[in-house]
Amino acid sequence: MAQKAAPKAVMRAARRAALVTGGAQGIGLATARLLAGRGYEVAIADLDAEAGRESGFFFVRCDVSKEPSVRACAGAVRKRLGRLDALVNNAGIADPVSGPVEKLSLADWNRRIAVGLTGAFLMTKHCAAHLRSSRGAIVNVASTRALQSEPDTEAYAATKGGLVALTHALAISLGPQVRVNCVSPGWIDVSAWKKSKNRKSIRHSKADHLQHPAGRIGRPQDVAELVAFLLGEEAGFITGQNFVVDGGMTRKMIYV
Ligand code: NAD
Repeated sequence: MAQKAAPKAVMRAARRAALVTGGAQGIGLATARLLAGRGYEVAIADLDAEAGRESGFFFVRCDVSKEPSVRACAGAVRKRLGRLDALVNNAGIADPVSGPVEKLSLADWNRRIAVGLTGAFLMTKHCAAHLRSSRGAIVNVASTRALQSEPDTEAYAATKGGLVALTHALAISLGPQVRVNCVSPGWIDVSAWKKSKNRKSIRHSKADHLQHPAGRIGRPQDVAELVAFLLGEEAGFITGQNFVVDGGMTRKMIYV
């Protein structure tokens, strides 16, 4: 017997909803697009209004390091989407180099930690009730720099190391209703995923690609695929973990 079609309102309410911070450009934008392609209703929170408007997604201008801004964003997203199943804490100051530690200002240190680490705490705090009620999931975007370093990257490394630890703490506190995982990308070329006036296509050298055991530099979609998997039901037995997506670079012996 033919099934009666569900009323439109019911179908809409049943669609899974995701919020991606820093979703206007780069890895966040690639993740937002992939999730939308897999049937999520997607909202993005970003500081850059120009990029946010260009993205085509429901966009909330938000500084993730400021609690009133985060509180308002979480409320606006919930109101617009009606539910929240997935949170991707991706916003961060992407340039890892902050200069020699002797010259690193406290203001610069604090700003990097505020955006990359405190931002994930604040957004999680204000989305937790909605995620609990939908039995949702969180993915935090850290970096291989949580695990290894080059000089003059103290604030970035500390931010990302903090995110890995925050991930397992949240997984224990928010479980079993909410799973929380972390992804740690290596070198991902985001130059083609910027707002239009900054977008470019960089040709990397053969050596840059081939130093990776996987044979190439990463693409934003490489990270997005992993994030989407971790948010989905197929990852239902995975929580509190950090997953490296770096083409194998952190598995390479590099002694000179
Ligand atoms: P990106 O600069 O292309 O995008 C970051 C987005 O975050 C931008 O749209 C920016 O406006 C937004 N943003 C910055 N500060 C914000 C704030 N206070 N509140 C809200 N939004 C803010 O960077 P990306 O390369 O796509 O990096 C995304 C995440 O991935 C970052 O956390 C970065 O540390 C991490 N990551 C990137 C790489 C890489 O090679 N690209 C490697 C490892 C980790």
